Formats: sequence, structure tokens, C-alpha cells
Amino acid sequence: MPIYDFHCHSNHSDGSLAPTELVHRAADCGVDHLALTDHDTVSGLAEAQAAAGALDINLVTGVELSVNWTAGLTRKTRCIHVVGLGFDRESAQFLERLEAQSLARRARAENIDEILRGKGLDGVLPRAIEIAGTEAVCRPHLAKALLELGHVRNDREAWRRFLGDGRLCDIPVPWVSLADGVQWIHDAGGVAVLAHPAHYRISRKQLMRLVHDFRDAGGDAIEVSVAGLDADQMTRFAKLAGRFGLRASTGSDFHTPEHTWRNLGSQAPLPEGVEPVWDILPGVAA
Ligand code: MN
Ligand code: MN
Ligand code: MN
Repeated sequence: MPIYDFHCHSNHSDGSLAPTELVHRAADCGVDHLALTDHDTVSGLAEAQAAAGALDINLVTGVELSVNWTAGLTRKTRCIHVVGLGFDRESAQFLERLEAQSLARRARAENIDEILRGKGLDGVLPRAIEIAGTEAVCRPHLAKALLELGHVRNDREAWRRFLGDGRLCDIPVPWVSLADGVQWIHDAGGVAVLAHPAHYRISRKQLMRLVHDFRDAGGDAIEVSVAGLDADQMTRFAKLAGRFGLRASTGSDFHTPEHTWRNLGSQAPLPEGVEPVWDILPGVAA
């Protein structure tokens, strides 16, 4: 049975491997169909494509968009992740739209740095830019910088005190809306997938609302299998997919070999009875 992994990260966002290393590792892990889904950027895809061409790997274009979702009557806005698959990576319109997301990410990093400096914690942003190797700093880079500068004792403390949801540096970011994010992916010819439904700390009722809104926005699929999910959760998400008429996707959300529990292709195969997302991805064989 072929192994699919439609969710992972390289050092073009917050992963640790270069796209070439990532693709080689995926091949070593037996992955046949791979999508590199860096946060709000497709800058690693050309390199990944070149590496995949030399191996027996079918590379699908990918990206993981941060989107803002405002939940029903509560009007509370949350950041949700939507994976795009199979789009045209050279679409000038899509690239321009992704650039706006990069600017939002950069502004967030600057705002967080300002809050931290207000607390007497200096030098975090410059260090994070060094760690990231780019100005588009993700929160894990800021966490690492806080640790390296001795501002916190461990990674957990960085998230608990400063960077986590609802913590001191949790500031609104002008990400694209859920509906527009789905539209962006469609406009570029791709398929929109609601990422890691277990990841959002929301009630079951709220999750239903989210999946409902995602489907109403034209969303195509939901990640039913993600590394770390147990069988009960997978069954739940498979049912959710069926109920809302969504396709099922699968991915590890691999970031680094250090996280041995999230290795490439290590997530469970999709359960029986779901309609796999690859059926609607051109050029991907079952
Ligand atoms: Mn990430
Ligand atoms: Mn994510
Ligand atoms: Mn991810």
C-alpha cells in the first residue's frame, strides 16, 4: 500500500531540514506521495521538486495557510490552519497573496519583540531571525531565541509564559479570513484541507461549527489521520468528514527529526470508509 504524507515542514518555515534533505528522508521512510506544506510560503517547493524528480517520490504542491476564523455568535477570532494541495506554484496572484501573509507574520514577530522588550527581555527578534535564516520568523523561532538568550529555562516555559494561545504575546494577526484563504487556494487550482482538527483547543460543538463554516466556504477535505491521533479520534474525524461531505487527508506534520513521534509518513493509514483526498488530486495514484 502506498504511503502518503501531505503535511510537513522544511527550513523554509519552522522545520529544521532543507527541502532536499526532507525529500530524501521521506524516501527513506517509504513515503510515495509527499506534499511539503510550509507555513504561508511555497519558496521551498522548487528545490523539493528537483529532489523528488531524482527519486521515486510523487511530490504534490503544498502550503499551510494561517487563517482567521470568527466563531458564530461569540465573535471570537481564532487562528486556524488550512493546507492547500495541488495548486499552481507559479500563480503570480497566489504568490502575491502569500507575500501579504509573510508581511503579517513579520509584523507579528516585531510586535511580540516589543512586548518582550517591555518586560526587559532584549535581543529576541534579532536572534530569532538568525535562527530562522529569514525575516519571516515563526513562533518556534522566537521560543528558541528566548531559550538561547536565557530568558526562559525551557521551550515549555517560553510557550506557557509568552507565546502560547491566550498568553502574554498572543496578539491579533491580520491573517486572511477562512473563506478567503479557501478561495485563494481554489483560485490557484488547488484543494483546501482543514488541518489537524484535534489541534485547536475548542469544544466539540465549536469544532462542528468550524467544520461547518469551512465546508460552507468551499473547503474540500479534512485531515483525518495526523501523527499522534489515537484510533478513537481518527474515527471521530472520519465521521465528521462523512457528515459534511469532505474528503479525508493524511499527514505527519513533521518538523524535525528530533520529534521522533512525528516522523514522515508515520501517521496511521486512513480508516476504511472515507473518501481520500488524492482521488481529487490530479496525477496522484491510489
Ligand atoms: Mn509549524
Ligand atoms: Mn498547523
Ligand atoms: Mn503544520
